[in-house]
Amino acid sequence: MSTFARDPWTEPPIGLLAELTHRCPLACPYCSNPIDLVRRERELSTADWLCVLDQAAELGVLQLHLSGGEPTLRSDLEAIVAHARKLEIYSNLITAGVGVSERRLEALAQAGLDHVQLSVQDIDPEGCDRIGGYRDALARKIAFARAVRRLGLPLTLNAVVHRHNLDRLEGFIDLALELDADRLEVAHVQYYGWALVNRAALMPTRGQLERSVAIVEEARARFGDRLLIDFVVPDYYARHPKPCTSGWGRAVIVVAPDGRVLPCHAAHVIPGLVFANVKDKPLRWIWQESPAFQRFRGFAWMQEPCRSCPRREIDFGGCRCQAMQLLGDPEATDPACSLSPHHTRIMAMADAEAAASPPTFRYRRLEPASSC
Ligand code: SF4
Ligand code: SF4
Repeated sequence: MSTFARDPWTEPPIGLLAELTHRCPLACPYCSNPIDLVRRERELSTADWLCVLDQAAELGVLQLHLSGGEPTLRSDLEAIVAHARKLEIYSNLITAGVGVSERRLEALAQAGLDHVQLSVQDIDPEGCDRIGGYRDALARKIAFARAVRRLGLPLTLNAVVHRHNLDRLEGFIDLALELDADRLEVAHVQYYGWALVNRAALMPTRGQLERSVAIVEEARARFGDRLLIDFVVPDYYARHPKPCTSGWGRAVIVVAPDGRVLPCHAAHVIPGLVFANVKDKPLRWIWQESPAFQRFRGFAWMQEPCRSCPRREIDFGGCRCQAMQLLGDPEATDPACSLSPHHTRIMAMADAEAAASPPTFRYRRLEPASSC
């Protein structure tokens, strides 16, 4: 019997992830954006985005995550935020926080922005510059975070952790406390897009992971009343996979900078799926009827061991994109699952990559990729 009180596959999406642009001043090697980035000339117009929001509200979307790339590079961000407010959709700005003046932030707050999520690449200034490929990033981020709090906006710090910064995890927690953040998300790298290309350069050791678990547990016990800490473990060392996007086509709808609509921002890695564009099709039709959104809804597509597993309603068999990337089969059990016949091999690969000296980063850029 299903553990769901209602049929979640027929419900509207809760969240819309609006990837406003792939342009970004940073060049993080852990970026999950696709290798084939969308160029500015192919981005949706302001009118297109306002129309997407109208349709999203009509569909029942409650939260708007303004992402990218760097969404503040869009000069129409205030108009998009104001439209979300008019439609009573909660808006969350996901930003790298460099090059955003206090005046701009104030304008966004006045337009109705509800929440800010700021990425911090490292708490060591040199490490921050090296990982983000951007000079003096940390000081700018700290100034930005202080401005967010001065304006009374809730703040989440997003710390993407890997072998190069994990040993400074306590410093990330101290920084979140010092900046009066409401929430700290400690997220081990998820290996999609540029992060997959850089996997061997980023993979932490099992020892680093174990220490990070202990540090987060201790910090939760000490600072739980002041700071909420979310923790995302690295897939390759997990026992069970993450319930990616809370189930395919179940809770989240992603609109790419050029208007393609995806169930997950990495879904383009699955061959054979055709993603409809908001310029051609209504959002409601895309969500409810398009073949790409139907493809992995429910449980009928599953193979064993997922098909008869009681956890299938918790993790939905894990991530389809990861199954495709690592096994070449999008219907396979996510190899992050310990019940997958490929799990041991994947863990051994992670151990081997973490033990070897890291290759140079391949930085995420619109122009041909560079390393340093
Ligand atoms: S991960 Fe880094 S490069 Fe990618 S969008 Fe975020 S800030 Fe930009
Ligand atoms: S076998 Fe499938 S459903 Fe069961 S825990 Fe693993 S991934 Fe989840």
